Amino acid sequence: MQAIRFNILSVVLFALSLLSVQGEAFAAPGRAFVVVIDAGHGGNDPGAVGKRGREKNINLNVALKLGRLIQANCSDTKVVYTRKRDIFVPLHRRAEIANDAKADLFISIHTNSLASRNSRVCGTETYTLGLHRTEDNLEVAKKENSVILIEDDYRQRYAGFNPNSSESYIIFEFMQDKNMSQSVDFAKMVQRQFRQGKRIDKGVHQAGFLVLRATSMPSVLIELGYITNPSEEAYLLSENGSDNLAKCIYKAFLAYKDGYEPDNASVEGTAPAKAASSSSSRPVFKIQILTSGKLLPSGSKAFRGLSPVDHYKENGLVKYTYGADTDYNKILKLKRSKVDGKFKDAFIIAFKNGEKINVNQAVKEFKKNK
Ligand SMILES: [Zn+2]
Repeated sequence: MQAIRFNILSVVLFALSLLSVQGEAFAAPGRAFVVVIDAGHGGNDPGAVGKRGREKNINLNVALKLGRLIQANCSDTKVVYTRKRDIFVPLHRRAEIANDAKADLFISIHTNSLASRNSRVCGTETYTLGLHRTEDNLEVAKKENSVILIEDDYRQRYAGFNPNSSESYIIFEFMQDKNMSQSVDFAKMVQRQFRQGKRIDKGVHQAGFLVLRATSMPSVLIELGYITNPSEEAYLLSENGSDNLAKCIYKAFLAYKDGYEPDNASVEGTAPAKAASSSSSRPVFKIQILTSGKLLPSGSKAFRGLSPVDHYKENGLVKYTYGADTDYNKILKLKRSKVDGKFKDAFIIAFKNGEKINVNQAVKEFKKNK
């Protein structure tokens, strides 16, 4: 779904309000890359509360440090904050700020907690919107006011994620497929940096969050760690800890921006699978397993024994896929039986007539054709 249209009055009002609340953006010359940094919670919404600290302050501290690193080192980037102080910003407003700024990337920063207050659980996670959603599910999500996780095994996969927490209120409308894969790329880069920064990597997850307003750009929600774990809480509250976490996200940002080509959204590379030719315009589903900055030799160890592996190029990256079939269910089964054990962040994508298309749209078409 594309950006929300505002009527003229609301645009004017919003622009005016931006001047007051949001005089926090600063411009860079030329066509700047725009990153929106969203410190979760704030004001009368503390977020998760630990023994010593509050989520809202940890989030803001890391958000500001991240923003400062980007501003100091990337003259071609414009940084926009959803908040720079301890104030409450409604969630729909955060997405509005990002959409209005025509952001290229939305980074929401949060701190995790466990309702059970199991103090042993710790580590970092990055969320993007899940793929296995349909618009029907979106409607259910809206009505039920809760998180919808479509995958059968979501209870295991998302253990520790609390659908009733305020985290559920942030988020991401049904993004375009292009935004989806870029979000996953960035999310993986963030987790990689956390790993290198000696933090525990609990992986990239895809979750369907309740929608209040669309962010129509690649978006991630980062959980810096668990405030319910005393030693992680101490780390999150320390200068050293918040510096390191901000630096990790900053490095991921640099890596992401390096591979970013603003006006090159087209998909080149391999043609759709042969399976497509017999049923010409039907969508072909594939499993994306891996993204790389360069072309890997066939039979590369990186494919972990999967063969044959196909690839396509997008946004300056080479993306590797396994399997190709017009039957979505077959691909889903293949993913579960052969891929998930090797590539836990793999996801299904779709092509039609050689072009990558929105996978949700493709699934809808598949169901209709059945
Ligand atoms: Zn939060």
